[in-house]
Amino acid sequence: MLPDRKVALKNYRELKLRKKAFVFSLFIPGLGQFLTGRKITGLAFFTLFFFPFYYLYLIGLSLNYGTISLLISQITLYILQAWDALKSAKRETSPCEDFCPAKVNIPAFMGKCEEGNVEGAWGIFSIYSPFPFTLGEICHAPCEEKCGILPERPLRIREVHRELGKTFLNQLEIKRRPPFLPLTDKKVAVIGGGIAGITAAYYLASAGIHVDIFEKENELGGTLNYIPNFKLDKELFQKEIALATSFNCIRIFTEKEIESIPKTYDAVIVAVGSQKEKQLEIPIQGTPNIIYPLSFLKNPPRPLTSKKIVIIGAGDTAFDVARLSVRLGAETTIFYRSSESSMKAQRKEISAAIKEGVKIRTNCQPEKIKDNTIIFSCGQVSFDYLIPAIGFEKDEKFINQLRSNHPNVVLAGDAENGMSNAALASYSGKLAAYKVLKMLKLQDRAWFMVDIKGKKPPKPQGENIFLVSESSLCQHCGEKVRS
Ligand code: SF4
Repeated sequence: MLPDRKVALKNYRELKLRKKAFVFSLFIPGLGQFLTGRKITGLAFFTLFFFPFYYLYLIGLSLNYGTISLLISQITLYILQAWDALKSAKRETSPCEDFCPAKVNIPAFMGKCEEGNVEGAWGIFSIYSPFPFTLGEICHAPCEEKCGILPERPLRIREVHRELGKTFLNQLEIKRRPPFLPLTDKKVAVIGGGIAGITAAYYLASAGIHVDIFEKENELGGTLNYIPNFKLDKELFQKEIALATSFNCIRIFTEKEIESIPKTYDAVIVAVGSQKEKQLEIPIQGTPNIIYPLSFLKNPPRPLTSKKIVIIGAGDTAFDVARLSVRLGAETTIFYRSSESSMKAQRKEISAAIKEGVKIRTNCQPEKIKDNTIIFSCGQVSFDYLIPAIGFEKDEKFINQLRSNHPNVVLAGDAENGMSNAALASYSGKLAAYKVLKMLKLQDRAWFMVDIKGKKPPKPQGENIFLVSESSLCQHCGEKVRS
């Protein structure tokens, strides 16, 4: 049994148990908590609820302001304890996971890695996202910036889940598999096969929903397919997608543009991403060689040796383009309208690009293009190719058209948040799956919304492939950092 199924079934049982606990707590306050293993909380609720009544019985019941306020507070306590029994206590989160866009329970999965338990770690990660490897390759890792224990030497969380993904995927043979929970007759369409759409499909299908994914390109993956291979291993990325979509209740339709959604679907998730490239809005004269970044990344013109490439923009895409073009032998310069510190790209991308030979000019605002020459506020430059990597936007018209087409539409990923990052897109796909389950009144199947309370991991023994940094456990796992 694959580890995500094990976790799903365990969490599903926990959801059922919470429901039972809620019902019991309606009869005897505190009993629900007691049954779910929170004995002290249960006992506290029981005593706090019954003791005042016993006291009233001892002093003799008379209706006055005192007894009325006591009754009101006891009713509030009764509601509170029932709510607590249903939701269970909220786990205290660590600073790193508060800043993780995918909201991964980092201490719990790091704890499993620490034990050398690849399957256990994969199982835990899959509660939060089916993409440990991909996020390990490309996430900008805000969690590491907030690693509270040694800011100057944070845990290498991203590398750990990249290695976890690599190890697990490399040893896996992917086969079609049944959903984790019994199949229902509900059908959901997911429009867009990027990371948000696939995440939504994964959680819905695992919960027993039929899912059809519609993707306009010839393979799933969305904009991540345009990331150069030196940054994201495409073979493993596609394998991770194949695993996430391996349920036999998922059907994939590629090269399929959807304009209207058939009413036969119970709900629709629109995860079309933001692939509309922003256009340069400056005067252009003549016929300059302008290529937009996605076409360049997909199919760069050859040969590029000694060609002059000018890139406008300073986000991750601009640096992907720059690093690819410099590897193809072009003389590459990035022009950015503001200072280096306000560049949106990851710091490590900027340093890698500089090391590889990309030149950067800051405080240069583009003003005008005349044939193959561009005039910036900082001077004039000639080019062989100009690549405006100034961002993407969502196609509002298309999204609204899809929305008006079906009563149960949920947006996910960039279609919901505007241009974001892969970790946030995955989280948004997961939430979209939950919203759909709620819409279909099947929320008790949302095993992926059950958080886990990490236990203190045992001390690691022997060889462990995950010990990639000298510090390995954080304070929230209960052990001191070794140095
Ligand atoms: S997804 Fe990103 S932020 Fe979250 S744990 Fe991984 S590297 Fe950190």
